[in-house]
Amino acid sequence: MSPSSMTMKAVQLVSPNRPFALRAVSIPEPEAGEVRVRIAACGVCRTDLHIQDGLLDLGKRDFTVGHEIAGTVDACGAGVDQTWEGRKVVVYYYVGCGRCRYCRMGDDHLCPQPKAQPGFSSDGGYAEYITVPVKNCVPVPEHVDLAEAATMGCAGSTAVHAGRMAAIHPGDWVVINGTGGVGLALLQYARQAGGRVIAVGRGGARAQIALEMGAEHIIDVLETPDVASRVRELTGEGADAVFELLGTQAAMSSALNMLRRRGRMVMLGYTTDAFQSHPIDFIVREITLLGSVGSTLDDLYEAIELLARGVMRSPISEVLPLESFDTALMKTRQGGLDGRIVLSP
Ligand SMILES: [Zn+2]
Ligand SMILES: [Zn+2]
Repeated sequence: MSPSSMTMKAVQLVSPNRPFALRAVSIPEPEAGEVRVRIAACGVCRTDLHIQDGLLDLGKRDFTVGHEIAGTVDACGAGVDQTWEGRKVVVYYYVGCGRCRYCRMGDDHLCPQPKAQPGFSSDGGYAEYITVPVKNCVPVPEHVDLAEAATMGCAGSTAVHAGRMAAIHPGDWVVINGTGGVGLALLQYARQAGGRVIAVGRGGARAQIALEMGAEHIIDVLETPDVASRVRELTGEGADAVFELLGTQAAMSSALNMLRRRGRMVMLGYTTDAFQSHPIDFIVREITLLGSVGSTLDDLYEAIELLARGVMRSPISEVLPLESFDTALMKTRQGGLDGRIVLSP
């Protein structure tokens, strides 16, 4: 029986501030230039919680959530080379307009009028199948596990993007403020770039993993009242770069205070908190503040390359069936996991 005559399970956003709904929807057919991917794994990202909570709302409803998508190509649309069929791939989740100044430069993640954003505003990966332009499929080598590859789709590629923005040089002191999926991936990216890493987190299993991944120092926020002073103590003057993944006012202020002169602060995390500081904090130390969102297609290629070479790895806490999405989201919200939770349809 062809999949087109059947329906599939999909977890969808009904409206913000309501639980996601498990629905039966028709299996999509690839259009010209597209492939259909039979999904093997979809990582659970904190952004999925932001979408459920309405903190991130792109205005769309009744679409399938989930954006860390990996699987196997099972059908090709018109004009797509048939050799794609059967290939393991991870999905790049921005489909830019292809014509604006950002798309022309390969910055599809900044496209003001994207055609689709799987898992954010169009059908994503908490499902059995997805159709995407073949350009959005990054091949995954046979020896690489698809659950780990899936996490490169957001956590890994986001880390590569932010890491490249911060231009880490060998010997730079790099602080990772937050040890979630992106934090641990950033830690590994910074290490392979030659950075000396200080990981800031809440201790527990994550701290142990951070040490194993090459963090030189771990700061447990529950035991360290003034993280910024501790960083200045460990580094002599302060950090060259800090990646701020928490987005609370306290964490953001602390991040700014731990930088040395000419330090770079890269913001990735957010909550409902505003960021308040005095301009002089930036002026007299010539601080650079960078925002970083998502990744380019090339960042995802790089993340898969690093994973395939064993330079980057992605601990998986648990693989749960798609139907257990509520449990997966709840556990992600609670935090303190020893790795990513991945859903498998
Ligand atoms: Zn564009
Ligand atoms: Zn994500």
